[in-house]
Amino acid sequence: MPSKYMIHTRSVPNRFKTISRSGVIAWEEGCLKCALCVKKQCVYGVYDNRALDSRQMLESIDNQCMNCFRCVQSCPKELIHKSVIPEYKSLGDDYWTPDIISKLWYQAETGKIPVSGAGYPGPFSGPGFDAMWTDMSEIVRPTRDGIHGREYISTAIDIGKKPGRLSFSREGELVGEIPRIISIPIPIILKVPAFGSFSKETIKGWAMAAKDLGTLLALPETLLGNEPRDYGPHLIPILSGGGPKKGFSWKRSRVIEIPWNKDWRRTFDDLRKKNGHALVSLRLALREGIEERVISAIRGGISTIHIEASDHGKAADRREVFIRDGIRGVHLALVEAGVRDEVTLLASGGLAMAEHVAKSLICGADAVLIDIPLLVALECRVCMRCAKGLPCPVEMEKARPSWVARRVINLLGAWHNQLLEVMGAMGVRDARRLRGEAGRAMFYDDLDRSTFASLGSNADGYELE
Ligand code: SF4
Ligand code: SF4
Repeated sequence: MPSKYMIHTRSVPNRFKTISRSGVIAWEEGCLKCALCVKKQCVYGVYDNRALDSRQMLESIDNQCMNCFRCVQSCPKELIHKSVIPEYKSLGDDYWTPDIISKLWYQAETGKIPVSGAGYPGPFSGPGFDAMWTDMSEIVRPTRDGIHGREYISTAIDIGKKPGRLSFSREGELVGEIPRIISIPIPIILKVPAFGSFSKETIKGWAMAAKDLGTLLALPETLLGNEPRDYGPHLIPILSGGGPKKGFSWKRSRVIEIPWNKDWRRTFDDLRKKNGHALVSLRLALREGIEERVISAIRGGISTIHIEASDHGKAADRREVFIRDGIRGVHLALVEAGVRDEVTLLASGGLAMAEHVAKSLICGADAVLIDIPLLVALECRVCMRCAKGLPCPVEMEKARPSWVARRVINLLGAWHNQLLEVMGAMGVRDARRLRGEAGRAMFYDDLDRSTFASLGSNADGYELE
């Protein structure tokens, strides 16, 4: 049994003050000038240490307040209130919500799993991954207490074509071509995002994180620079259409990604001639007919498929189709065609939380690629200013590679621990076994159909409170 994979995390402070969810509003008018003001009784000294951060134009009071509500409840004239800060509400968008962004910040800073207290106050169902629940029926098993200690749960996965069977000679030697497989200890591959105010130093930090974690970093070949030689095996160059650029270093790459287009087969053959050792991953946008294209690519010799959805996890041609549905559709088509084990299925787009990794695997992916969380780990606010050519509010491009790497390692450490929690609670000990285990989840659409289909369609939405 391989040694236990662990991601070692440690606190990595923010470079900028984070935008807190709520702020303190303290009115002066009507103050009774009590002998002992409740502001003096704040155990965190929030009012005593009050200052203005002139660089960020932020009041320290909002960042330092620990939301104990003591001052709010104790002021006899009720002059102190807490309210949601407008800047917090404007973070991200309707998919990359302020809640998701602030939790990613927390995980990148501390490496810890965010805890929101007892119970879950939100709706039972929602769009995307929220319309899917995982089976935690094993959560009471006594062995679960050891998932971070004695109990062995493997999160490793393999990339490449697995042999259907092994053949041996009379002498007991393995015969035939041995398929090339790459194992990574966590089903998460890093991917350089399509936007962001990142620099060469940032990319170096992401590459350092990929190497440290034992995983891979996918990046456009145009961004490949002068990375140290030993980073090469951890990088997946993404070729744009039309084949590789001149001067590209072939020998060090273990995986190379090419896009689906009319020339993919020529590019694929070209790559095999130049670097027969590298696995070639074919990237297809999630859109109608993807199942047929995937099957034809596998028949053409491709062993790794990457399904790509939009940043919000949507299909390119139909907003109602989510990455979850795309993965399920392709996985089931591969099973139906009897070629599921001949291919590795990767998925990207809309992967925003640790639970999305487990849910993607349950839907049929072998591993996922994450991109925007890599930016958010570096304090990104998903404000899209960089996409408009405006300066980044957190000066991401100035971050040192070591800081970048440590923040991403923290984030992945927190996600890895959450994956262990989910797998432990499901009684699944190997991430490879989680692939396509749809019996380990319930899907809102399926339940709704089987329970209420006879009553007609639900046109007014389906949020259950
Ligand atoms: S809510 Fe609690 S932590 Fe925040 S300022 Fe008031 S007393 Fe201090
Ligand atoms: S904070 Fe805004 S400007 Fe900076 S990288 Fe993120 S989206 Fe771009």
